[in-house]
Amino acid sequence: MRLLVTGGAGFIGSEFVRSLLLSRHPVHHGIRITVLDSLTYAGVLANLSPVSEHPQFTFVHGDICDADQVDEVMPGHDAVVHFAAESHVDRSIAGARPFIQTNVLGTQTLLDAAHRHRIGRFVHVSTDEVYGSIPAGSWTEDSPLAPNSPYAASKAGSDLLALAFHRTHGMDVVVTRCSNNYGRYQFPEKVIPLFVTNLLDGKQVPVYGDGRNVRDWLHVSDHCRGLDLALRKGRPGHVYHLGGGTELTNEQLTGLLLEATGTGWDMVRHVPDRKGHDLRYSLDCRKAAEELGYTAEVRLEDGLADTVAWYRAHRDWWEPLKANAGLRHPHQSPIDRAPPGAF
Ligand code: NAD
Repeated sequence: MRLLVTGGAGFIGSEFVRSLLLSRHPVHHGIRITVLDSLTYAGVLANLSPVSEHPQFTFVHGDICDADQVDEVMPGHDAVVHFAAESHVDRSIAGARPFIQTNVLGTQTLLDAAHRHRIGRFVHVSTDEVYGSIPAGSWTEDSPLAPNSPYAASKAGSDLLALAFHRTHGMDVVVTRCSNNYGRYQFPEKVIPLFVTNLLDGKQVPVYGDGRNVRDWLHVSDHCRGLDLALRKGRPGHVYHLGGGTELTNEQLTGLLLEATGTGWDMVRHVPDRKGHDLRYSLDCRKAAEELGYTAEVRLEDGLADTVAWYRAHRDWWEPLKANAGLRHPHQSPIDRAPPGAF
């Protein structure tokens, strides 16, 4: 299978590429991957260094909004797995334009090209944030979309656009909606790596509001396994939830990170709540379990311990990113001044 992976230099996309190219499972034998990535502040080539010399790997530096370039890269692939996005909620509150540009118009550019070149399958990586907030119970794949942040609205737009290409053009589209990911190589503006790296540096961590917002945490390796199953087994035109099954308040998560780094509550400072902050996200994942055979396998304690150990051992990866983040994008603020996100 020849895969075009957009956003493959980011956190989740790079895990997906590494896991498939380094897999010994017969189902992945002979897989070829092209990564198309414009290397924004969140795109890090080093994330792909474990596979950069792999004979079945190609990297193309390019923008999914560039129709000519997308048209050039698309032919010859059997499927697209679309990760490329502006992904940080706080940045979307500071300025929504790049989110509409990449997440909506970039997705439309890719869908148009995939349709024109009759690509076999298009997997669109979406998010639980498209549903808004749910005080109790869990969303099913049929729940109405009611996004609250500009990020979530842009993801809802692209998610619906992908499904519209299935209904209108009969394109083989599968949409996945996942919960909050964590793990190695996550850009240190997102809450877990931001908190871990601050704590490792003896710096305080900022918790939004009263810390009672609830998120479900999904290890990135479980997410990528679910995406691979959706790619191979998902039904055209269907949506699948990929969750982690581990709901925590932000205060509970903070407690676990303090414990894992051997620090205490004196390292926590409460900051005013994020505008429009969703209280709780929760996905019902029974459909993915029944149809794809997906269940999350990484226990939160193990996943967090591995993540903290990785950041402890990889200062060379995150220190330059933290120092430079945002400075290449004048409309975005450096992460030291921005409040944490991805809750
Ligand atoms: P990320 O910000 O780490 O990576 C995004 C990647 O996309 C980067 O490599 C960046 O350079 C690339 N990119 C951005 N704009 C581009 C453009 N115009 N053209 C080409 N490449 C471009 O994001 P992530 O956390 O890995 O998320 C990947 C996908 O998963 C996104 O679509 C995101 O909405 C979705 N998602 C993420 C989470 C999470 O917890 N991280 C949860 C749910 C859904």
